[in-house]
Amino acid sequence: MSDRTTGIHHITAFARDPQENASFYTGILGLHLVKKTVNFDAPDTYHLYFGDASGSPGTVITFFPSSKARKGRIGGGQVGVTTFVVPVGTIAYWEQRFTELGIAFRHETRFSESYLQFTDPDGLRLELTERSEGPVRTDTYAGIPADKAIKGFGGAVLFSRDYLQTMDVLERVLGLAKVGEEDGFARFQSSAELGNRIDVPLSNMEWGSGGVGTVHHIAWRAKDNEEHARWREIVAASGYKPTEIKDRQYFKAVYFREHGGILFEIATDAPGFARDERQNELGRKLMLPEWFEPRRAEIEAVLQPITIEEPSN
Ligand code: ZN
Repeated sequence: MSDRTTGIHHITAFARDPQENASFYTGILGLHLVKKTVNFDAPDTYHLYFGDASGSPGTVITFFPSSKARKGRIGGGQVGVTTFVVPVGTIAYWEQRFTELGIAFRHETRFSESYLQFTDPDGLRLELTERSEGPVRTDTYAGIPADKAIKGFGGAVLFSRDYLQTMDVLERVLGLAKVGEEDGFARFQSSAELGNRIDVPLSNMEWGSGGVGTVHHIAWRAKDNEEHARWREIVAASGYKPTEIKDRQYFKAVYFREHGGILFEIATDAPGFARDERQNELGRKLMLPEWFEPRRAEIEAVLQPITIEEPSN
C-alpha cells in the first residue's frame, strides 16, 4: 500500500521573547496556548504550542523563544511563509483588526486566492487567506468572534535550495498531488481540510540562516504509530536519512532533511495535547516530561513567567 500524509501536523519556529511571542499568537491572532513545556533537547528554553482550542493537528504553530538566540534570515531550506486560513468573507475584519492594532500588512495573490501577508514581532512571515474548508471555531477568544477566527493552517510556502528535489519529495514520498503551476509557483494538495496546500516557488533560493524569525521545521501528519513506523522506512528507502523515532509526549516524531534543504518531520496525530492536562486547562501550567520532573525547580527558575488572556469558555 502507499501512504500519503493528509497534510501539515505542526510548524515550529524560533522567537526571541516568550511573553511577546505568546501575546502575539494569543492576543492578536487568537490562537490558544495549548501547551507550555520546554525544548526537550534544551530545557532552559520554553517550547510553546499555539493552535485551536484543543490543538488539533493542522492548527498548531510552535516556538522555541530564546533571548540568547541569534537573528535568522528567511531563505532557501526553510518554510518561507506560513499560511493560516480564516472563514470566507472575513479578510476585511482582519484588515481592520490589524490596522487598529498597528500590524502592517500587504496583499498577494497566488492561484487566484488573495493573501493578507504580515509578520510576527520577530519577522516570521505569515499570511491569512479565506477558505470554506475546515471547521469554523466554536470559541470566542481575544475578542475575535468564533465565525471570524483562524481555523488553522491553510498551508505553507516552501523556500527551496533545489525546488525540483523539494517538489519530488512532496509528490513521490509524502504523496501530495501536484495541482498546478502559475506565476512562478507550483501548488501541491493533500486530503486534510487544514494544512493542505503547499506552494513551492519555481526557482532555487539562496540559503537562509536559521534563528529568530525563521521556521525550524515543518511536520507532516501520520495517523497512528503503525503508519508512523512505516513512514520512517519509506523515507529511508527513498534516499533520506531519518532520525530514530522520538517521543515528543504529544506525538511521536521522526525528522529528515529533504534534498532542497528543508527540515521535515513526520508526527503522529495521537496522543495529542490532552494527554497530560484537561482540555479546559491546556497551556496553563508548565508541563514537563517524566524525565525532567526531578529538575522542575531548576528549570522553572530560569524560565521567564508568561501571562496570557484566559479563555472565556
Ligand atoms: Zn516538530
